[in-house]
Amino acid sequence: MSGIVAIVGRPNVGKSTFFNRLIQRREAIVDSVSGVTRDRHYGKSDWNGRKFSLIDTGGYVIGSDDVFEAEIDKQVELAIDEADVLIFMVDVESGITPMDEDVAILLRKVNKPVFLAVNKVDNNKRLENAVEFYALGLGEYFPIASTNGSGTGDLLDAVIEAL
Ligand code: GDP
Ligand code: MG
Repeated sequence: MSGIVAIVGRPNVGKSTFFNRLIQRREAIVDSVSGVTRDRHYGKSDWNGRKFSLIDTGGYVIGSDDVFEAEIDKQVELAIDEADVLIFMVDVESGITPMDEDVAILLRKVNKPVFLAVNKVDNNKRLENAVEFYALGLGEYFPIASTNGSGTGDLLDAVIEAL
């Protein structure tokens, strides 16, 4: 049996960095619609011998810094439908943003496992700062650094347990 894990969150939190660390090969870039790309990347990975599919979600206009909350919400809703387990990624460097709160509202209603990954936890100060993310109302979080892989093992242990 193989499961589907989707990584959701607003742009720039480090979703693709995490995704690229985990996948063996990039499979497909699908559903590109006139300027707005749905920008979903699918890959395969495994952790401790457990295989799973991974979806990296984007949902913003390529080459533009304008991000529409509605577009992110759409990505999250697609991911909720498609995935067995969700990883909600946020960024300790910027702290909680209104867009994070918006995504959290959608995810708190979901009847599937959601793991909150606080990314960019590169040092002890940031580890302390990560506690603010309890305010998202999603419970325990995993402090990780996608650039060096720190903390990602504990997150993946929990993810495959839930698949
Ligand atoms: P996405 O838009 O959510 O897919 O985010 P990206 O993966 O494109 O990353 C956005 C930026 O955050 C890039 O400049 C990454 O190098 C940076 N980044 C990702 N993970 C980390 C991390 O663990 N620590 C730090 N300091 N920067 C990170
Ligand atoms: Mg990305």
